[in-house]
Amino acid sequence: MPEKTYLITPGPTPIPPEVSEAMARPLLHHRSPDFKVLLEETLGRLTRIVASAETPLMFAGSGTSAMESAVSNMLSPGDRVLVATAGNFGERWLKICRAYGLDPLHHEQEWGERLDPVAVAERADGCLAVFVTHSETSTGVVHDVRAIAEAVRPTGAVVVVDAVSSLGGVELATAEWGIDVVVAGSQKALMTPPGLAFAAVSDRAWALAERGTLPRFSLDWATTRDAQAKLSTAFTPPVTLVAGLNAALRLLEDEGPEVAWARNRSLAHATREGVKALGLELFSPDDDSSAMVTAVRMPDGIDGQQVYALLRDRFGVVLAGGQGPLRGRIIRIGHMGYMNRFDIITALSALELALAEMGYHPPAPGAGAARAVEVFGDQGVRV
Ligand code: PMP
Repeated sequence: MPEKTYLITPGPTPIPPEVSEAMARPLLHHRSPDFKVLLEETLGRLTRIVASAETPLMFAGSGTSAMESAVSNMLSPGDRVLVATAGNFGERWLKICRAYGLDPLHHEQEWGERLDPVAVAERADGCLAVFVTHSETSTGVVHDVRAIAEAVRPTGAVVVVDAVSSLGGVELATAEWGIDVVVAGSQKALMTPPGLAFAAVSDRAWALAERGTLPRFSLDWATTRDAQAKLSTAFTPPVTLVAGLNAALRLLEDEGPEVAWARNRSLAHATREGVKALGLELFSPDDDSSAMVTAVRMPDGIDGQQVYALLRDRFGVVLAGGQGPLRGRIIRIGHMGYMNRFDIITALSALELALAEMGYHPPAPGAGAARAVEVFGDQGVRV
């Protein structure tokens, strides 16, 4: 086993020391006044980062539980809904809907494409809800959910956005853009360990939830909202994670959201330049929209899963492989959360070393890291 591990993945992401410290403090009882203060502060920060009109609901669980809550709270058997997909996490909405006995319409685009807002809106006619993904972590594409919400608006359908791997890392103006439900999780750009999930719910979405008859219990929105209104939780919350999240959100607030978004764009830009200097092709878009994950095509004859395993087991550098049809064909570098320029330089150098062991050599030794250093020097942004 390597002595040192580098998490350069699209989640879970590394944790800042301030977050670890907050989680190491003596455990608060969840019915204590101190926890109420912590919960109030954390929910306030969460509302600001989601930029929603309402306080988001907080659940114990991974991001998928908040996704599931959107389906189970708003819908009833036989409801007509649309799921728009161009990757693995879009398809998760389909699976959740089907698990609840729904038969969603499916607007399907190739993995790696950007969702076409007009085409999505055309299919949304007559639907109660449209489910989309913001940052499609499996392909590196960040979909234009603002344009999708705008295009869908005339249909009256509620727009539900999976922001699990985007919240805090790229702009998401929930209320301003007219997005009805945003779901997210703690373990990506929010720099907190996995285990907390959130759902910001608009008035229109609450109206659906009042009539939705699908079964739900621990993820019931009204139960969660009523408890939170009393600065409490319906069930025992992961107190430690709430403390960690509060510390992480404070860091993001101190930095300012725009600075965090600019840092992500800057890290992504250097990553793309480094990848191209290694003589490799990008799978994710070669522009600033792709700020959270860079997906790199593997050269012919090289299995991305082997590269991933070699990087992890020999070098201690944990990137991510491809999912579904992209398994073996791409490697993903996550640059969200608590990351800086040296993480990118490490990822590029490690990728070069691993590929060299498999017979692929870049145009010049160290070409990827050298290009990244050059880009960071030019950018003049502190990352
Ligand atoms: N949606 C997206 C866009 C994701 O990136 C992920 C996690 N990779 C999920 C949903 C699922 O989140 P979780 O694993 O926390 O349930």
